[in-house]
Amino acid sequence: MSNAPTIAVLGTGIMGAPIARNLSRHGFAVRAWNRTPAKAQALADAGIQVCDSPAAAVQGATLVATMLNDGKAVRETMQAAAPGLAQGAIWLQLSTVGIVEIDTLAAQARELGLVFYDAPVLGTRQPAELGQLLVLASGPASARAAVQPAFDAIGKRTLWVADHAGPSSRLKLALNHWAFTLTHGTAESLALAKGLGVDPALVLDAITGGPLDSGYFQSKSAAMLADDYTPSFSVINALKDSELIVQAGAQVGVAMDTAQAGAQRFRRARDAGHGDKDMAASHLA
Ligand code: NAP
Repeated sequence: MSNAPTIAVLGTGIMGAPIARNLSRHGFAVRAWNRTPAKAQALADAGIQVCDSPAAAVQGATLVATMLNDGKAVRETMQAAAPGLAQGAIWLQLSTVGIVEIDTLAAQARELGLVFYDAPVLGTRQPAELGQLLVLASGPASARAAVQPAFDAIGKRTLWVADHAGPSSRLKLALNHWAFTLTHGTAESLALAKGLGVDPALVLDAITGGPLDSGYFQSKSAAMLADDYTPSFSVINALKDSELIVQAGAQVGVAMDTAQAGAQRFRRARDAGHGDKDMAASHLA
């Protein structure tokens, strides 16, 4: 498509790389930057313009997507991008940053003269590769028509949450809490069965097809039973989000006992050297 909008993708890790590829597949002119250049270089074969700085990547872009570890990384990267940003460009903030940083980033967007969408995504490596993410979008109604094609390229659905930044990042924490709870519950059930001298595969067998079953349980239990911790969602990022969840609960007076215990499990997994493995490595903690 010759009249395709140009989008800069800042951060091409587990999630950012397939997001960039899907945007390119859907006809966007994609300009990508990653702190470790080799990860972005791998996208050149998909016709993506690989750039050596955030400021170079955002040159000529009407849309800018950030998919970086945390709020601090996003803030610093957008500051570095500032010299190349066009006034009025639209910033799609896809990373999980929590309820404090999202306000800081919204303020940064105002300072930089950007239209800001708080748009964290639900779904991990495979849904990202398949363009099947759920986009939790909050931002002004006025530019939704301009951002919807980008969300459609990366997701199977956009859930419009609010017309201002913040509520999507709040919802994202509630949803990740459920994902982590399932992960830890699966890990501990399998480990307990094994510890009690019962074949842990029987846990999977008993749950499959019943009311306790879910696609998530299936994929995480299969990974744990196979000792396959290829990262879809790293322990380090899961710990970062668990801490954001505990802090958010404390801020509003909701006791997050399970999240606290889960964070401790992820911390133990990280300290044992499993930080870059998938969060299924809760099973190793
Ligand atoms: P990832 O593979 O670890 O990628 C993180 C990216 O952030 C990399 O590009 C990394 O650069 C970059 N980065 C980290 N610190 C930086 C800094 N100080 N300055 C500049 N760049 C920095 O993580 P991911 O799984 O793609 O996750 C990205 C975001 O999406 C996180 O907020 C995560 O919580 C969220 N998320 C993840 C999933 C999932 O299932 N994986 C699902 C939904 C949302 P380098 O390559 O140089 O390290």
